[in-house]
Amino acid sequence: MVRLQDTTKNGKERDWKGKKKRSILVADHYEAGNLLKKAERMYECANVLRFKQQDETLKLYQAYFCKVRFCPMCSWRRSLKIAFNNKKVVEAVNERKKVQWLFLTLTVRNCDGNELKLTLDNMTKAWNRFAGYTKVKKSVLGYFRALEVTKNRKVDSEWNGSYHPHFHVLICVPSSYFKKKDLYLKQSDWTSFWKKAMKLDYDPIVHVQKVKPKDSLDLENIEDDIRRQIEEQKALLEISKYPVKDTDIIQGDEVTSENVATLKTFEEAFSYKRLISYGGLMKEIHKELNLQDVEDEESDLIKIEDENKDEVANSITEVVAYWNIGLRDYVIKK
Ligand SMILES: [Zn+2]
Repeated sequence: MVRLQDTTKNGKERDWKGKKKRSILVADHYEAGNLLKKAERMYECANVLRFKQQDETLKLYQAYFCKVRFCPMCSWRRSLKIAFNNKKVVEAVNERKKVQWLFLTLTVRNCDGNELKLTLDNMTKAWNRFAGYTKVKKSVLGYFRALEVTKNRKVDSEWNGSYHPHFHVLICVPSSYFKKKDLYLKQSDWTSFWKKAMKLDYDPIVHVQKVKPKDSLDLENIEDDIRRQIEEQKALLEISKYPVKDTDIIQGDEVTSENVATLKTFEEAFSYKRLISYGGLMKEIHKELNLQDVEDEESDLIKIEDENKDEVANSITEVVAYWNIGLRDYVIKK
């Protein structure tokens, strides 16, 4: 019996096994929460992986992914795809225009689980107002926005059990942004715009920081191994990951009633909600490059990056890995 080993060109193992185990655990919670259809889909997720072998590397070419919103396996695939798409978009922006990149974090006060859905609705509406303000429109050429929610589980905190929704936004501004008074927005400006858009009676916490090119957006010297690319571009990875982590929903590795309740809160709050979106120049380029909408039901979670189709088709060796329930690992049958 041979266990699946899928490594990147840099020798790093792709964690199929870890994701599948985590996916089963989350499915157990869906089942315990009586969300049976989703649980059933998740138990089927990535049970069979068909790869074509090229030289030493495996390329996935067939698999079933359940696409349940909080499936760790599917979130992992989405994250890779978002990172790849963003890399493409950022490269194209840099080619066309002289820009600077900023990271913006917009937060609101923590809320209880029963207020989460309403808070997310308000934040989405507030974002549209925010992005429409004359001064914001003037300075922001394009953006990628991701909605993240974490849960506070610090037992000694007064916020224990509360939810913390926030936006991470990658923004491109004109290269003269820091020099021109009519373009530059101070941190207090961003804060007051967000406060106004959210109609808050307190000052929300807002972070804005310049992205140093070498941190994240140095897109030269690209090799075709996407994992390595995004690992090297930590800042880009940070924002490109699929925004809700299963570890924020399910704590530990056993089904607990608190985890089930948290999962149901997330499920309800996020139904029919988009976690990511593009605007301005980044939206135009995303469309122009024909990149897939990662949140779409039809989105392809098998193929992550552009690849030479002929190369894949012509490779002879097929490797099929099956999830083995007893071994809790993928096993290869040749
Ligand atoms: Zn899945």
